[in-house]
Amino acid sequence: MPRSRPGALRAGLPRPRLWTRRFPVKIPGLSARTGLAVYRGEVLANDYDLFPGATKDALLRYREFLTPVSRRPRHPQPIVCSCRHCSFDDVTHARDVLDRVLGLLPTRARAELGRRVAPLDAAFLKRTLPDPFADRRSDAWWNRRLPGGPVA
Ligand SMILES: [Zn+2]
Repeated sequence: MPRSRPGALRAGLPRPRLWTRRFPVKIPGLSARTGLAVYRGEVLANDYDLFPGATKDALLRYREFLTPVSRRPRHPQPIVCSCRHCSFDDVTHARDVLDRVLGLLPTRARAELGRRVAPLDAAFLKRTLPDPFADRRSDAWWNRRLPGGPVA
């Protein structure tokens, strides 16, 4: 009997479900259940800035901005390239992404991720200065902190 080509064998199988196309990105410190909820939000959100791994990248970037711990104020830098990866150079974009993901999550997962974000928010508030010219009505609080100049 002639051997069937792998493609021909696969042709008869059902298409993989959305979840199996890529493995969920493990986010250190989050439960598997919340990690899966985050992944589901990232995959299903019709949002250019949300992609599998975006939440992990955002958390890393947010923490990195606040490291090392110091009393010197820090200034979010405006982004030069607005693609979904370079955008993370601007820490306020990372916080935007976290906000959008939090808005997509079911209650328990939102609370768990929120507990990871809250101490970073507190540190960010401490380490940045208020921007007196920010629009208090339209911008989220993390976008109302005094930015630095563009990176030379
Ligand atoms: Zn870019």
